[in-house]
Amino acid sequence: MIEELSLLKDIQVLDTEIVKLKTRAQNLPRELNTFDQSYKEVKVDVDRLKAELDVTTKKRNEFERLVSEKIERIKKLKEKTDDIKTNKEYQSRLKEVEQVEKERRTIEDEILVLMERGEVIEKALSVAQKKLNIETSKIEEKRNSVKKEVEIVEKELQALLIKRDDLAKPLDKATYDRYMHLLQRKNSLAVVKADKEVCQGCYMNIPPQLFVEVMRNDHILTCPQCGRIMYYDNGKDKEQEELERGEHTTRPAT
Ligand SMILES: [Zn+2]
Repeated sequence: MIEELSLLKDIQVLDTEIVKLKTRAQNLPRELNTFDQSYKEVKVDVDRLKAELDVTTKKRNEFERLVSEKIERIKKLKEKTDDIKTNKEYQSRLKEVEQVEKERRTIEDEILVLMERGEVIEKALSVAQKKLNIETSKIEEKRNSVKKEVEIVEKELQALLIKRDDLAKPLDKATYDRYMHLLQRKNSLAVVKADKEVCQGCYMNIPPQLFVEVMRNDHILTCPQCGRIMYYDNGKDKEQEELERGEHTTRPAT
């Protein structure tokens, strides 16, 4: 394979890896968002229960204040008896006391209901709060691991970019520009294998004569359908090829 084509092929391998890493780096923070979602859901529960508990407590306090008022009223009704002159007045006072007592008992019953309700809410709140604590530490953990992973990806990316720059150095500007032009327009895939007369970039057939030429790997040839640069993978690595070329040149001319 000519050096130019071999370099382009290797740069493509790195560029594919670079695209993968860049996508990974972009997607990592998104993983955090899904975690935020379950945190948010539990947080909504906790806030709702807190608000409910608050309403219940306020109502209970209000009812307790009312009970105190009723007790005070009963006390006064019982104490202030000097204005009672007749039996009728006395009976009516007794009725009044009875009525206020009744009101007081009703409110006390309400308070009991509110107390029970408060206990139920407190239990639910305690469960939700525990869940929230777990979610909070999960987020913290995930945040740290994502941060670490982003750092690793960034490092790998930097290393690949340096390697890529080194590989691209020997290429002439026109060839490199041609490659970059294809890379940007062909979904980050500029150099592809041609296999069994099929371009592995667009999976269209290529003319048999062109395929024969591609198999030689001694020209930059492009797919007539998608325009990508094609090479033929003869299953040999670089060393093997160099060795064969070396043997070839030392072989006596016939
Ligand atoms: Zn093609």
